[in-house]
Amino acid sequence: MTQKLVIIGAGMASGRVIEHLLDADPGAYDITLFNAEPRGNYNRIMLSPVLSGEKTYEEIVTHSDAWYAERGITCRFGEHVVKIDPEMKVVEGENGHVPYDKLVIATGSAPFIIPVPGHDLPGVISYRDLDDTNAMIEAAAKGGKAVVIGGGLLGLEAAAGLKERGMEVTVLHLMGHLMERQLDEAAGYLLRKDLEARGITVKTQASTKAILGEDRARAVLLDSGETLGADLVVMAVGIRPETRLATDAHLDVARGIEVNAQMQTSHPDIYAVGECVEFDGHLFGLVAPLYDQAKVLADSLLDQPNAFVVKELATKLKVTGCDLFSAGDFAEGETRDDIVFRDPARGIYKRLVIEEDRLVGAVMYGDTADGSWFFGLIKDGTDIEEMRETLIFGPAFQGGASADPLSAVAALPPEAEICGCNGVCKGQITSAIERGATDLGAIRATTKASASCGTCTGLVEQLLAVTLGDGYAAPQAQPICGCTHHTHEDVRRLIKSQELKSQAAVWQELGWTTANGCHICRPAVNYYLLADWPLEYQDDPQSRFVNERKHANIQKDGTFSVVPRMWGGITTPDELRAIADAADKYDVPTVKVTGGQRIDLLGVRGEDLPGIWSDLNRAGLVSGHAYSKGLRTVKTCVGTDHCRFGTQDSTGLGIKLEKHLWGSWTPHKLKLAVSGCPRNCAEATCKDIGVICVDSGYEIHVGGAAGMEIKGTELLCKVATEEEAIEVISAMTQIYRENAKYLDRIYKWLAKVGLDWVKTQIVDDLENRKALAARFELSQSVYRKDPWAEHAQDRTTRAQYAPLANLTLEAAE
Ligand SMILES: Cc1cc2nc3c(=O)[nH]c(=O)nc-3n(C[C@H](O)[C@H](O)[C@H](O)COP(=O)(O)OP(=O)(O)OC[C@H]3O[C@@H](n4cnc5c(N)ncnc54)[C@H](O)[C@@H]3O)c2cc1C
Ligand code: SF4
Repeated sequence: MTQKLVIIGAGMASGRVIEHLLDADPGAYDITLFNAEPRGNYNRIMLSPVLSGEKTYEEIVTHSDAWYAERGITCRFGEHVVKIDPEMKVVEGENGHVPYDKLVIATGSAPFIIPVPGHDLPGVISYRDLDDTNAMIEAAAKGGKAVVIGGGLLGLEAAAGLKERGMEVTVLHLMGHLMERQLDEAAGYLLRKDLEARGITVKTQASTKAILGEDRARAVLLDSGETLGADLVVMAVGIRPETRLATDAHLDVARGIEVNAQMQTSHPDIYAVGECVEFDGHLFGLVAPLYDQAKVLADSLLDQPNAFVVKELATKLKVTGCDLFSAGDFAEGETRDDIVFRDPARGIYKRLVIEEDRLVGAVMYGDTADGSWFFGLIKDGTDIEEMRETLIFGPAFQGGASADPLSAVAALPPEAEICGCNGVCKGQITSAIERGATDLGAIRATTKASASCGTCTGLVEQLLAVTLGDGYAAPQAQPICGCTHHTHEDVRRLIKSQELKSQAAVWQELGWTTANGCHICRPAVNYYLLADWPLEYQDDPQSRFVNERKHANIQKDGTFSVVPRMWGGITTPDELRAIADAADKYDVPTVKVTGGQRIDLLGVRGEDLPGIWSDLNRAGLVSGHAYSKGLRTVKTCVGTDHCRFGTQDSTGLGIKLEKHLWGSWTPHKLKLAVSGCPRNCAEATCKDIGVICVDSGYEIHVGGAAGMEIKGTELLCKVATEEEAIEVISAMTQIYRENAKYLDRIYKWLAKVGLDWVKTQIVDDLENRKALAARFELSQSVYRKDPWAEHAQDRTTRAQYAPLANLTLEAAE
């Protein structure tokens, strides 16, 4: 006898179930199909082309009314099922009951709405079905501004569609880069660049606080205080499995409706399929696994053996011109290696993640032609050891091609483009080599290859090596690290000239060979970016050495040293009492006076750091940055206040300088001193910058050192007033910040550029001096702050101060 099958939800998953059932045994079931939407099944994933105007709704319908009618399916479209009674085996629709022998729940997902104030105002919509799409099309017809909350797949497709329809669109994304679940930072950067190029504004790390408006949405307020005008707000921040009916029917429900491998719920006659289910802890948001589930469910309903298994998934974005692909797991790991290829000129990035000679993840942007091939390698767990060297070049380079990259370059045809920026092909370079251009400089001069962004430098060098053989001497300049061919100097220059303002931009545009740099280049690049773009670039704590991340020096036993700032070496009884109280309260075993005229509390436990900082803050004491590549101390002598030899107020000037410079980040640590007369009690002539006060004013000395190397300062200039001294020292600090290689102290950097050059910049050229001092001040408007206060207050960061052991010992002064 024909059994009664009731299906709740006429979406993409149940559509497939019905097709498989009817194909296998058209007479097995008498089907009743409920759908809350007033229509049957359409290709939901093609709503984005409908929104952008590339398709019509009619073109995406998969099952028309006639199709259902021809197959004898009873359709109850536009009717919600409100209840399931598993005992009576009946579902209750808005318009009446229907009994079943077998029931399929295929209710999909509901969009998640962030419950911020104003989320329910007219003009705020989600993106799930045709009605939402039509509402967006209608809103876009009036023009105006749209704010899309959510920079994932759906949000970006909505944004692109609305932009296509003429709206001014801003995408807000909570995380640091777009589509962070599918893309790494590098691919996210390229995607953002492409979206911005088409006029969409993208704001990352943007948290929505409220949607403003009386009668309807008018604006979106961010946590940062910024307000964005909005005629339409689209929330695309995620989905939740639609489980209410199952929960009410007392089926097992976790995040989704729990099913076994036959798609059966905890009740034997009730099955579930699609986005509403949870299988083995997995939820689903793409159609590929739902189609597998649909086949399994159809077999289960026909008593055929089959079992659902979770497979790897690949993602693509349906925004014309944004060509991206991601598959597998691309998280970094100790047992994992990356193979990275970048072509900055063409906006291409490819990253393969290898673990134990297997490809486990792939992320690609700009050229995704080989995506399916890589996806196949991931799914099949193919051993890639043999083709590892040439894997990134795709299937065309496999199967007999040599695994040697030099051979791969040798095999390139003469017309293969080597330098994308200047359009130089292999043939031009080899001809130049044959005509006598036998090093990189000569190739750059004669062909311009690698003279712009420089990312093809490696290829050009390989061509030189292939063509000249033993006659080629590799260049001497050392790259920053193995992630790049560029030297520090190149990177600094290119960050400025190409206006690169994020790490992702540096990795991509300068052709880094790793996905996110390494422990050597990341701190340097982080420093270069914050020094050059103080307002635009946000400091990345993960790219800092451990002491700078912890805001304290880690000692060899895993405890920390805490050094409060003492401006110009001056303190007060109150400050000393606060230090003594803190030492008692936190059982500090050692209290030591440092060479930089302050007090070091040694042996503080990690978990006590926020507490001790908070106590010291209450007494007005702030971080002494004794751990930073930045201003440490300004040592002073007593000067005219107390010394009969004093010529100027050296203590006062030292305090002013320290208050002016504190918090600034520099390529390496920066120590200053001010002595009140040439007797030089503050030892100013072995500091990075030292001031010797004389009767007629202030001598400013630079480039001293008294560490592993000992070096006396050289005289930079002499000025008459304190104001001039402060301006010259600000300009000196800034020119060092803007030009030196990371981890070069001033004396090392001066040995490279020469003191005479610095003099021309800040002694002879008064306008330039003022401009440098102004840029220093601009940077200080961001960085002149106490990190202890920020961290002591922030409860969420307290956990990071757990004890650590055996880490680097960095001298505190
Ligand atoms: C704009 C957009 C773009 C997408 N792009 C892609 C893509 O490129 N690639 C990809 O793989 N996936 C994409 N997806 C996801 C894909 O569409 C879903 O994974 C798929 O549609 C889920 O199928 P489903 O049958 O589980 O749910 P749905 O297709 O959502 O169907 C569920 C149906 O159940 C109905 N329903 C719910 N509750 C009840 C009730 N109580 N009574 C009656 N009916 C009810 C709903 O009205 C709905 O029609 C996209 C989704 C959207 C919205
Ligand atoms: S440097 Fe000169 S002014 Fe300063 S304490 Fe020594 S002698 Fe006195």
